[in-house]
Amino acid sequence: MNIKASLPLAGRTHALEKSVINVGGVAIGGGQPVFIAGPCSIESLAQIRAVAHAVQGYAHILRGGAFKPRTSPYSFQGLAEEGLAMLQAAGREVGMPTVSEVVSPEDVDLVAEYVDMLQIGARNMQNYPLLRKVGRLRKPVLLKRGMAATIEEWLLSAEYIMSEGNPNVVLCERGIRTFETLTRNTLDISAVPLVRELSHLPVVVDPSHAAGKWNLVEPLALAAIAAGADGLMVEVHPRPETALSDGPQSLLPERYCQLVESAKAVHKLVNRRQRHA
Ligand code: PEP
Ligand code: MN
Repeated sequence: MNIKASLPLAGRTHALEKSVINVGGVAIGGGQPVFIAGPCSIESLAQIRAVAHAVQGYAHILRGGAFKPRTSPYSFQGLAEEGLAMLQAAGREVGMPTVSEVVSPEDVDLVAEYVDMLQIGARNMQNYPLLRKVGRLRKPVLLKRGMAATIEEWLLSAEYIMSEGNPNVVLCERGIRTFETLTRNTLDISAVPLVRELSHLPVVVDPSHAAGKWNLVEPLALAAIAAGADGLMVEVHPRPETALSDGPQSLLPERYCQLVESAKAVHKLVNRRQRHA
């Protein structure tokens, strides 16, 4: 199959500029990297407020999960609507738009009431009824790549959302499953330049779920920016050792702020090189 021909909406035609997606006043794909940060799960109002204040001035968009797609049914499943209200309150307090995951079509309208962007997680990248449902909204959608999905399958999932009428899709590479066991997933850096060639949609990278370990997050994040990513989504927790999900891959806020500074420096360097090329 000819990839470009199968993507009438998500594909990049030579005449088309890159899409810029507006998330509550923050432009993703506009040339400056966008930083999305927050805990894996919203655990309490105090926790999400602590993260929001700690990353204010560094991150542009606040994340936090309230509906968690956990591998085990016995793991913490999220605070649902109560958590969304906490995320919204914390975001408003610091003036940051928000993003949170939706895992089932019945919850789409509820989640959309509270957040500025809806996240479709890796496990739901091919949940077609869910894709069609978020496609009937106008709110931006952060579409994560499935852990065993090819780039073409991922772009076809974006096409599902867009074909329902919602053009506001941001792609998110978060690592794919390989034979390697020392990382949680393997970050597919090549997906970044490939997607930029095949599609006009912005692409951000989530190094946290790719790495699985906090000390690998910064090197992967910098590599993603160097490869041309339009932004980064990173998990940040004020006390990772007590986190109810994904503590081992969560950064302390201070380290996160340093990462943002380094990422901006890498972006500046790569941009300068491109201008001189
Ligand atoms: C998350 O962002 O917390 C998450 C569950 O990510 P993924 O769907 O990439 O595993
Ligand atoms: Mn997580």
